[in-house]
Amino acid sequence: MINTWEVLKHGERLISAIETPPTTRDLSFNHTVTPAFDMLFVQRPNGNYILLIYMRIKIIYIDRGNQYWSFLDKDNFEKNFREKINKKWGASNIKILSRLASRKNISLEFRFSFNKIGVFTYNHWTLNVIKLRKDEWAQSFVTSSLRTGNFDTNDFDYVKKSPKTYQRGAVHEFGHMLGLDDEYNSGVFISDLKSIMNSGETIRQRHRAIYMPWLNKTLREKNIH
Ligand SMILES: [Zn+2]
Repeated sequence: MINTWEVLKHGERLISAIETPPTTRDLSFNHTVTPAFDMLFVQRPNGNYILLIYMRIKIIYIDRGNQYWSFLDKDNFEKNFREKINKKWGASNIKILSRLASRKNISLEFRFSFNKIGVFTYNHWTLNVIKLRKDEWAQSFVTSSLRTGNFDTNDFDYVKKSPKTYQRGAVHEFGHMLGLDDEYNSGVFISDLKSIMNSGETIRQRHRAIYMPWLNKTLREKNIH
């Protein structure tokens, strides 16, 4: 069940909401796990619309060596996650998701609740986040079927992934949290190095297939155009 009070801001009017059905082979494999995220379609007081993708995330902060998490570090990680994921994956202002015939805009926004343990009956995701020294590197990964992942404090640094592409671990891994597969090891997009699910950070139209079908269905059903 979606508690809209968790997600909506003052003045936003809910039009439709859904707990995401599994979106990839991996996600559909195990039907007993929780949804990966909720989607809500809302209208703002100014008439424009927002497609909201909402995740409750439990973060387990892990100290490593002589690196200890401070309150400020935790705050920073959550702030980076919120802001950098939205800047990369979201669509607002000039980079809107779509423009309707009525000239109203639809933007895309990601909202997160972190570590509200005891308030919610479940979290969509549980992430281990390791505190590393600035010069250390660790492989981050997401296991989408289990709704778990491993991140670290250097995941918002750019890493050279191919001769011409750079990528931040967290923004790539977030694609897996949406249900997208890797493109760098096999498949038809293996040579699209710039793609975010490959070795770069470019979001292609195909990556929007996670939420566009539901958005289009909602617009049709609610007769919004
Ligand atoms: Zn990956």
